[in-house]
Amino acid sequence: MIAANIIKIKSEIPSSVKLVAVSKTKPVNDILEAYHAGHKIFGENIVQELVHKYHELPKDIEWHMIGHLQTNKVKYIAPFISLIHSVDSLKLLEIINKEAVKNNRIIDCLLQVYIADEETKFGLDEIELNNILKSNIFKDLKNIRVRGLMGIATFTNDVTKIRFEFHHLSQIFKDLKITIFEKLETFTELSMGMSSDYHIGIEEGSTIVRLGSIIFGERAKVEA
Ligand SMILES: *Cc1c(COP(=O)(O)O)cnc(C)c1O
Repeated sequence: MIAANIIKIKSEIPSSVKLVAVSKTKPVNDILEAYHAGHKIFGENIVQELVHKYHELPKDIEWHMIGHLQTNKVKYIAPFISLIHSVDSLKLLEIINKEAVKNNRIIDCLLQVYIADEETKFGLDEIELNNILKSNIFKDLKNIRVRGLMGIATFTNDVTKIRFEFHHLSQIFKDLKITIFEKLETFTELSMGMSSDYHIGIEEGSTIVRLGSIIFGERAKVEA
């Protein structure tokens, strides 16, 4: 099932769009099934679970952190994380930079932008985003690389609303590409789209989709 799902989805999305298989709450055997079908990029949202799975599973897996990240937990993932999608403060960027230095690495990050109208979603608003990017502190962080933006649309059946939110994020991304990041060829990624809305995300310019339930099946309702 999992193998078939992943192969089908990969055959359907454009080759320019990267698939992150969101394996949160799922056992390592489920991840191995996707892995043996040729998939090597997985996303988790809880540090403890991510570290556990990193140790259990093959070392050529590329791990992405997609959930809210507390500053005091950065040190546990800094040695191996490939991309942190959920950076939502300058403080967090500073800590990631510090831990990256300790590990002699450059850590790729996305800035999470708040595009939904739900109270529960983390992320930066546009003013906070611009303040970070213009700050001198940010300019001095040499061991992080901001690769792009991430956003989560409102959880709704209203596709017009979802499209509007993704379109908005895509516009912010394009604006940054021709302004602040003009000279940076590495600002290329837009992480936008989950199982229920990734088609819209791709239509609006997503380069990374984060798919969980459509690959692994529904999760038990115990998410953080
Ligand atoms: C859980 C999660 C996903 C995947 O959700 P599905 O609806 O199962 O595809 C994507 N992004 C984030 C940030 C998540 O927490």
